[in-house]
Amino acid sequence: MERQFKPESLMMSFGYKPEWSEGALKCPIFQTSTFVFKSAEDGKAFFEVAYGLREKGKTEKLGLIYSRINNPDLEILENRLTLWDRADDCAVFESGLAAITTVLMEFLSPGDLLLYSSPLYGGTDHFIHQVLSRLGITSIAFHAGHSEKDIESMVEKSGKKDKLGLVYIETPANPTNSLIDMELCARIAAKFSTPARKIPLAVDNTYMGPLWQHPLEHGADLVLYSATKYIGGHSDVIAGACLGSFELMKRIKTLRTFLGNMAGPWTGWLLMRSLETLKVRMETQSKNAMKVADFLSKHPKVEKVYYLGLIKENDPQHEIYKRQCLNAGAMVSFDIKGGEAEAFDFLNHLRLIKLAVSLGSTESLAEHPATMTHCDVSKEDRDRLAISEKLIRLSIGVEYPDDIIWDIQQALEGSA
Ligand SMILES: *Cc1c(COP(=O)(O)O)cnc(C)c1O
Repeated sequence: MERQFKPESLMMSFGYKPEWSEGALKCPIFQTSTFVFKSAEDGKAFFEVAYGLREKGKTEKLGLIYSRINNPDLEILENRLTLWDRADDCAVFESGLAAITTVLMEFLSPGDLLLYSSPLYGGTDHFIHQVLSRLGITSIAFHAGHSEKDIESMVEKSGKKDKLGLVYIETPANPTNSLIDMELCARIAAKFSTPARKIPLAVDNTYMGPLWQHPLEHGADLVLYSATKYIGGHSDVIAGACLGSFELMKRIKTLRTFLGNMAGPWTGWLLMRSLETLKVRMETQSKNAMKVADFLSKHPKVEKVYYLGLIKENDPQHEIYKRQCLNAGAMVSFDIKGGEAEAFDFLNHLRLIKLAVSLGSTESLAEHPATMTHCDVSKEDRDRLAISEKLIRLSIGVEYPDDIIWDIQQALEGSA
C-alpha cells in the first residue's frame, strides 16, 4: 500500500537514509569540501552531467563532486523544500538576496527590461537600481493600485516591450500587506512572451511561504524565499531558496555554481532542523497574529490596522486574498495615533516583544519602517504606500498570545 504523506510528516526523514551514516537517525553535517570518486569513470560521468556536457540519464543522479556544486545537506534540504510548494526542484543559497540576485542575473541581460511590483524588499530594490542599472538593464514599477490595462500600457510605452525579460513581484507587500494579483502578472508575462522567449514570473513568497501561499499554482514560474524568515524561523541563520521547474532550476543552479553563492552544509543542517517544526510554528504564529490584530483594531490609541485577516469583503483586495492566500499570516502593521514620537514611545516601552528588524521567527519583533527598514524609500513613495511616521510593523511569534497582547497594551498605555 502507498500513502501520500503530507509535507509535515516527511520533514523529519525525507530524502535521507540512516544507513548512509552509521545508522544516525538525523542527517549529519557533511562538513567536507570535496568527495572521493569510486573510480575515474565515475568522476568523468559526474562532471559531464554537472557541466551540462550531456543530459542526465533517466535514472542517473548527479554524483557528489565538490561542495560548491552539491553537498548532501543541501540536496536533502532542497528535496524537502520542494514538497511544500510542489516544485520540481529547488536551489538553496547563503542568503535570500543571493537567491534573488541570481535569478535577476540569470534572466536579464544588458538592454533588457524588468517589470516589478513596488514596494520591494529594500535589498532587492537597491540591486535593481544600483547594480542592474549599471549593466544597462532598465526597469519599470507598478503597484497594487494599477489595473492590468495600466500595466500593459506602461510596458508598451517603455519602448522596450520586446526586451521584457522578467516579471518580478512581492506579495503581500512589506510592510502594509497590500496584495499583487499573481494571475494578472502571469497574463502580462504571457502577453509579452514570444515563441523564442518565454518571460518568467518570479514571486518573492517570503511573507507567506511556504505554507500560506503557493505561487506556482497561480501562474508563477519561480518562487523565492528569504529562508532567514519563516523557513529558518529561529533568528539564527541567513539563507535563501528558489524553486521552480527542472528546466529553469537547471539554469539557476548552473549560475549558482559559478557565482559560488550556495549555502554551506551547516546552513543546510540548520534549515533541516527548522523544517521539522515549520508547520506548528507558522500555525501558532498566525493564530496569535489574528488575536493581536483583533486587539489592536479595538484599541483607542490605534488608528488603523493592516492585516490580511481584517480585509473587508467590499475591499477590491478581498477577492485576490481569497484566491491566492490560504491564511492571513503573522505580519501585523498598524498606525498609532500621533507620529514618530508616539511610535518610538511605544517601541521603547515594549518588554517581551523585541525591537528588531527581520520577521517570521519564534519570537515577536517590532520595528518602525519609516526610519528603519524603509528609510531609503523616497518620501513620495512612502506617502503613496502609507509608510508613515505612525506606522509600526509587528512580526508575531509563538509566545502565549495573552502575553503578547499584555505587552502591546502596556506599551500603548505607557506611551504618551
Ligand atoms: C529578508 C527578506 C529578503 C532578503 O533576505 P536575506 O535572507 O536577508 O538576504 C528578501 N525578501 C523579503 C520579502 C525579505 O523579507
